[in-house]
Amino acid sequence: MRLKGIKINGFKSFADKISLSFSNGITAIVGPNGSGKSNISDAVRWVLGEQSAKMLRGAKMEDVIFSGTQKRNPMGFAEVTLILDNSDRTFHIEFDEVEVTRKVFLSGESQYMINKSACRLKDIHEIFMDTGLGRDGYSMVGQGKIEEILSSKSDDRRQIFEEAAGISKYRYRKEEAQRK
Ligand code: ATP
Ligand code: MG
Repeated sequence: MRLKGIKINGFKSFADKISLSFSNGITAIVGPNGSGKSNISDAVRWVLGEQSAKMLRGAKMEDVIFSGTQKRNPMGFAEVTLILDNSDRTFHIEFDEVEVTRKVFLSGESQYMINKSACRLKDIHEIFMDTGLGRDGYSMVGQGKIEEILSSKSDDRRQIFEEAAGISKYRYRKEEAQRK
């Protein structure tokens, strides 16, 4: 599994539709303060299902929508697509490439898509579960995360290990089954 690219439209400072591709190896994003580097990692986190506006450095979810500048009108929506290499079938989907899209409108309405077909947030959480990617995965290590892991409660720490060991989906299914 590899993040091959990202398409951003109207998310935070990205008023223009942009498309970035990441080749094999390490990619570093550089730029002056305030140029939007962290907004790119926020965009990735957002598509992975982040539901906390605070984690995205905003007050409410609609704050991710480009809010305009002196020269440009605000946008009515934000849309981000992650392009993931699935040739190793990390995701149980029969395609070599998986595109996951999230869109939010000023009204607060959200849309989610997997390979351009509408889906639920729950479906996004489920495909990422145990891949180490999802919202609660360890693929995004933000500032302060290491400290948080070291000082977290043992139950929370256990969750991180369960995700790494690939067993959180079984716990999730058990809990789902017990609810029914
Ligand atoms: P640093 O080097 O300081 O970490 P950075 O490159 O990570 O900077 P970001 O935090 O990604 O910068 O970008 C901050 C910029 O994004 C600010 O100029 C802020 O005004 C802009 N921004 C954030 N949200 C929005 C929004 N909804 N609409 C327009 N601009 C936004
Ligand atoms: Mg930054």
